Amino acid sequence: MAILDLKYYGAQVLTRAAKPVKHIDRELIKLAQDMLESMYHYHGVGLAAPQVGVSKRFIVVDCGDEFQEAPYFLVNPEVVSTEGVQYGPEGCLSLPEFFTDVERPARAVVKALDLRGAPITINAEGFLARALLHEIDHLNGVLFTERVEDEQLLVREIPVMKERIRMILSGEIPAVPEYDEDEVLHLEETADMAEAAKDEAVPV
Ligand SMILES: [Zn+2]
Repeated sequence: MAILDLKYYGAQVLTRAAKPVKHIDRELIKLAQDMLESMYHYHGVGLAAPQVGVSKRFIVVDCGDEFQEAPYFLVNPEVVSTEGVQYGPEGCLSLPEFFTDVERPARAVVKALDLRGAPITINAEGFLARALLHEIDHLNGVLFTERVEDEQLLVREIPVMKERIRMILSGEIPAVPEYDEDEVLHLEETADMAEAAKDEAVPV
């Protein structure tokens, strides 16, 4: 397995519709394994193939035990239906350290094929619905900034994010944000803070 380089805001592959997967072959299986490893490496909960420069309709999602028993590997995923509204923080590995509230449907039914070619249907709600819809957006060349209504926020924050991307690409700062381990432990120790941490946005 390998850690893949991420494509960042401004890369053309992120703004075009990805092509359907025609064959589930060894190349796709390898991509799936590398994408999962890369997603964990960069501390994401979802990753779409265009985010690693591959313009194919394939995503991986792992929102954790609360939502799923094992990581999802979804070939040609489609949104069948959505329902309700949720409003909450969102981030994206291709838009480093930029988080803001985004409106999404509260529930979504998604169908896809798994890596054996078997059809699967996911009835998702809450954060899992958000993650799946965010990743499927990527396959349509849509970034979550397009779903942000606060134009002023974008005008203010996008140049900051672009500078961060420039620094990542030039090696001035690491692609994986560095966390203070003591702080993480402290969060786990304190119930209130753990609860607060749950509300924090996770990049997908
Ligand atoms: Zn994303």
